[in-house]
Amino acid sequence: MKSKNFKTQKQKKPGSESKMTPKPEYISKKYKASGKLINKVALITGGDSGIGRSVAVHYAHEGADVAIVYLSESKDAQETKKLVEAQNRKCLLIKGDLTDEKFCKKCVKEVLKEFKKLNILVNNAGTHFNADTPTEITSENLKKTFETNIYPLFHLTNEAIPHLSKGDCIINTSSVTAYRGSDHLLDYSSTKGAISTFTKSLSAMLAKKGIRVNGVAPGPIWTPLIVSSFDKLEKFGKDTPMGRAGQPSEVGPAYVFLASSDSSYITGQFIHVNGGEIVGN
Ligand code: NAD
Ligand code: MG
Repeated sequence: MKSKNFKTQKQKKPGSESKMTPKPEYISKKYKASGKLINKVALITGGDSGIGRSVAVHYAHEGADVAIVYLSESKDAQETKKLVEAQNRKCLLIKGDLTDEKFCKKCVKEVLKEFKKLNILVNNAGTHFNADTPTEITSENLKKTFETNIYPLFHLTNEAIPHLSKGDCIINTSSVTAYRGSDHLLDYSSTKGAISTFTKSLSAMLAKKGIRVNGVAPGPIWTPLIVSSFDKLEKFGKDTPMGRAGQPSEVGPAYVFLASSDSSYITGQFIHVNGGEIVGN
């Protein structure tokens, strides 16, 4: 895609659900839950909207209570809470900026205060700024991209690990751009590459403790992040082998699999939910 398809570096507040037409699908009507996460507690960053909301809703269907962290989109967060509570599960909303190390620590503390335990940490919040050449990347946005996408994984994980036990897990959201590169997201794709490597290294550190660390690498998925970043939305996802963008509802189940004991012998791996693009692991 050429630069004219993208909004400029200046955009940026996270996108909101209300600006999206058509509305994304978060869980398929055909989805059949079977108590795979009964009484587990999950902390999901970026759980107000998009992929994170789909994860929160699937986890609630599978019997988990959830806490979601979001930057500013309180209306979207309230909607996720409603969807979780409709499954008779609890949803704790935590608003704040994950680029602040102290706030990352506070997120884990709040979950422990509310639920007395933590079983699943989903590092999913992220941001990006389009730029066609390296020189177009401003220092401010470069810093913000790394501070949002990768630093919080260290801070949240450090705070969470002492409270995780055998059978618990960490799941990180990477991107297809980590595997095949991107001609307009040099800094973002670099952070996603860092997330993939972080996942592998941490899995090696925690394997003996029985704590698994895996990730999901989505391709083009219809979410607020996309609507706030692209101008020519009708083209979005058309260049995948399946010829379309994915719905959040098609990504959430991968996070259920990785959080449940169905994946008990899998760690340090990625599931590529990307419409058929073949990439290395
Ligand atoms: P989204 O906008 O719905 O979710 C991103 C969320 O991150 C936002 O809701 C926002 O509240 C949160 N966030 C951003 N900066 C934050 C900060 N500083 N502090 C706290 N929260 C912050 O979009 P999405 O597409 O669902 O994105 C979720 C993840 O999926 C991101 O990591 C993104 O990079 C990744 N991803 C998305 C796609 C796609 O096509 N949508 C493809 C590959 C990877
Ligand atoms: Mg949002």
